[in-house]
Amino acid sequence: MATAASTQEHFDTIVVGAGISGLYQLYKLRELGLKARIYEAGSNVGGVWYWNRYPGARCDSVGYTYQYWFSDELLSEWNWSERFPAQPETERYLNRVADKFDLRKDIVFNTRIEGAHFDEANGVWTVTTADGAKATAQFLVMATGGLSVPTNPTFPGQEGFKGTVFHTARWPKEPINFKGKRVGVIGTGATGIQVIQTIAPSVGHMTVFQRTPSYTIPIRNPKYTDQDRAAIRERYPELKHFVHETFSGFDFNPDPRSFYDLSPEERERFLQALWEDGSLKFWVGGFLEALTDKAANDEISEFVRKRIRARLKNPELAKKLTPTDYAFGTRRVPLENRYYEIYEQGNVDLVDLLETPIIRFVENGIETSAGVIELDIIVNATGFDAATGALTRLDLRGREGRLLRDVWSKGIHTWLGMTVHGFPNMFMTMAPMSPAAAFCNVPTCSQQQVDWITDCIKYVRDQGKQSIEPTADADDGWVRHHNEVANQTLVPKTRSWYTGANVEGKQQSLIAYIGGVGTYRNLCNNAKEGQYKDCVLA
Ligand code: NAP
Repeated sequence: MATAASTQEHFDTIVVGAGISGLYQLYKLRELGLKARIYEAGSNVGGVWYWNRYPGARCDSVGYTYQYWFSDELLSEWNWSERFPAQPETERYLNRVADKFDLRKDIVFNTRIEGAHFDEANGVWTVTTADGAKATAQFLVMATGGLSVPTNPTFPGQEGFKGTVFHTARWPKEPINFKGKRVGVIGTGATGIQVIQTIAPSVGHMTVFQRTPSYTIPIRNPKYTDQDRAAIRERYPELKHFVHETFSGFDFNPDPRSFYDLSPEERERFLQALWEDGSLKFWVGGFLEALTDKAANDEISEFVRKRIRARLKNPELAKKLTPTDYAFGTRRVPLENRYYEIYEQGNVDLVDLLETPIIRFVENGIETSAGVIELDIIVNATGFDAATGALTRLDLRGREGRLLRDVWSKGIHTWLGMTVHGFPNMFMTMAPMSPAAAFCNVPTCSQQQVDWITDCIKYVRDQGKQSIEPTADADDGWVRHHNEVANQTLVPKTRSWYTGANVEGKQQSLIAYIGGVGTYRNLCNNAKEGQYKDCVLA
């Protein structure tokens, strides 16, 4: 492992973050023969899979599509145990990658980057760590993750609560004993649902504080046998290409037929087959009109609502847990496992915050408009300042000392979601205006972006140039295209982290490019083949 003492060094490239993108970026930079260093705030690799170790954390992507494709040896060695691997397995996988390719020797752990400044005169980035150490590099890759800055609710009286508060994205490594405890969970998104359904059977009593119910899909998660794995491996040579050509980075595409090509009965049968797949295929592998056509979406939303209601005996509960005021698929659709049944097992209460809002935290619990609910533990499953958060909280300054936070406060702009005008030689993964920020199976887009960034760095060096930066027009063009595509869909009409609505004061715009992973990749490839004509090389 690299040590903090050596941080005064100069590197060809500094990478911030040792998650899925950062690890692969280091591997690729080494392939180019560059001197590279990763700084990582955590004590180990894994990014989102290092921090989100809450009970029930599990990947909603099928495991064999949620992996690196660059090493046949790795592909042949790693055995996924089930269709949707739980957090410990994915974390083990990323550790295995770090060990196998000897990546740790160029990673400094437990080191948070506070800022990075571009020195125009010398054409270098100076990176500063939280303890004041500095290092310089020609290129900077912000592999800081799209979901790495947790958002905590700010209710009055929080500091006075005498129990314990956890955020799911900062979960301790030691197991928590919930036995006999009164536990409150705030939030019913993908994370809240996983943690609720997992710990509810073992707590004394649980209160779920729900503001918006989710549309969900029941997960089908068989364990794999050796035979299953052998069959899956046979598909790897094809899959490693195909995932990049799809709409959302998985191993399937939306159905080529229009919703209206089928009769209502045929549609019902088609949707039922997708439903039984027990995966996100129901969301992004059905009719594309689900995301663009209100009437089609209404029918699909009702299909899901009917199945949620049917799971609950208590009509009042069914009403509260069934979303009715937004369109299916315009927020992230969680997979669930016996989530609805836990509300009828006897020790779980649902508080609908639209009816009885939280007034304040008190020393023994949470006070809503209906009175105090006594609690020992509060779990905030309240989400993230997505895509922009990890970048705007830093003192990240490009040419003329311009702070990215200020630049984006007037409107987020990027070129291809990977670069920003005014920030030469700075690249970003999982950042705004790329599918990777929300509408992609993360490893697919992460690898595509890292490959593109690596090729771009190589091009600059091969040309004997020092720096590359998109023009202001390039950013403007990408923003226009991004918005045009976004506005053809229903997604911006719903408030969620996809639109920045979950963070007070955040720019309200669709955070991720929704034109499709394959289309995006073609546009990125065109930019490369066109020799980055939308950029200034100096
Ligand atoms: P999220 O989708 O943003 O959900 C946060 C939840 O907290 C929402 O129900 C939200 O209510 C609620 N909330 C936030 N602030 C609140 C407040 N002040 N008072 C009351 N309720 C509040 O966050 P997440 O569940 O952590 O998921 C984020 C993303 O992480 C997912 O969409 C997914 O992409 C990823 N993820 C993936 C997996 C997986 O692959 N299995 C698992 C977990 C997460 P409102 O909706 O009303 O704002």
